[in-house]
Amino acid sequence: MTAFWTEPDYDDHELVEVVREPKSGLTAIIAVHSSHLGPGAGGTRFWHYAEPKNAMRDALRLSRGMSYKNAMAGLPMGGGKAVILADDKGTKTPEMLIAFADAVEALGGRYVTAEDVGISEADMARVAERTQYVSGLPVEGKDAAGGDPGPFTAMGIYHGIKAAVRHKLGKDSLDGVHVAIQGTGSVGGGVARLLAKDGARLTLADIDAARAEALARELGGKAVASDAIMSVSCDVFSPNALGAILDDEGIARLDCKIVAGGANNQLARAHHGPMLAERGILYAPDYVINAGGIISVTLEYLARTDGQACDINDVRERIATIPGRLEQIWQESDRSGVSPDQVADRMAQELIGR
Ligand code: NAD
Repeated sequence: MTAFWTEPDYDDHELVEVVREPKSGLTAIIAVHSSHLGPGAGGTRFWHYAEPKNAMRDALRLSRGMSYKNAMAGLPMGGGKAVILADDKGTKTPEMLIAFADAVEALGGRYVTAEDVGISEADMARVAERTQYVSGLPVEGKDAAGGDPGPFTAMGIYHGIKAAVRHKLGKDSLDGVHVAIQGTGSVGGGVARLLAKDGARLTLADIDAARAEALARELGGKAVASDAIMSVSCDVFSPNALGAILDDEGIARLDCKIVAGGANNQLARAHHGPMLAERGILYAPDYVINAGGIISVTLEYLARTDGQACDINDVRERIATIPGRLEQIWQESDRSGVSPDQVADRMAQELIGR
């Protein structure tokens, strides 16, 4: 038997629950890392893990990341995350979502869920039929915030890239700045569209090559093969696909001045943050720059529990504070010589009382 609490990714998590519901075939893990600032909040990932132990690893790492993310975004929420283990065909049934929702409800509010990779707004609407501890639900009206967090995450990353370009390149405009984007899904696609409006030069890649090519045609950028994107010579590399891409080999391939993107857990291991700094590459800590989505779902959740609608301007205002937080981290890093990821970790740990 594997004792997960002896694994390096176990960080005194307050709750780790394995949910098995044989009738629906559900296997899920719900993890709450810290509830120091409020209930554990973070999305549900639906993913096929060829190695099931990687599902536990994801739940542990992602929920800790959410503690840091929520704290650094100034939200009254702790860190939580759920993963649903998909089969190799990605079969997702209403019964599985209902069984998952019942498990969330049974925790009585210790964990609040929303969308993550593989989970749609419609899935969350189904989950909401059985639990109140859910957000990211469909909304009506252009001034009501809520729903899919992807566009709000993209908005925060766009602001963060502008701040990084100002800090590292001394430029106030993105006009002609070359950004290479890995992953052109909900977040990466949204970032690309916002950057294109400001005249940035875009190189795009996705393992779904047709998706990147269509976006490149739409925005006037260039699409490259997904295994070539990390070595594109550019100003900004923006990872918006999956995590752990910044490892020894990945960092050696980079030919950029800034890494700023939305993927969670970009650094494969702790020493990869300092390694980027040694190469003179400015890093925007992932959980700081990609907080736009959790800001949206949290304000939506808090408004709903107060019986109110969530105002989109409140969400926009809160997202607009992301560049200030990044600048604070980079200035402290410049002053102390400690890499930005480590500065951010220390700030977050202080906020969550660890
Ligand atoms: P998505 O599924 O909409 O898009 C991801 C895209 O990446 C897909 O088009 C996929 O084909 C592509 N991809 C996967 N592996 C790739 C690879 N090796 N090279 C190139 N492309 C690859 O997901 P999303 O919602 O855009 O999320 C992207 C990342 O951002 C994830 O790491 C997610 O955890 C993180 N994130 C998302 C949100 C959000 O609000 N959606 C918030 C915070 C963080």
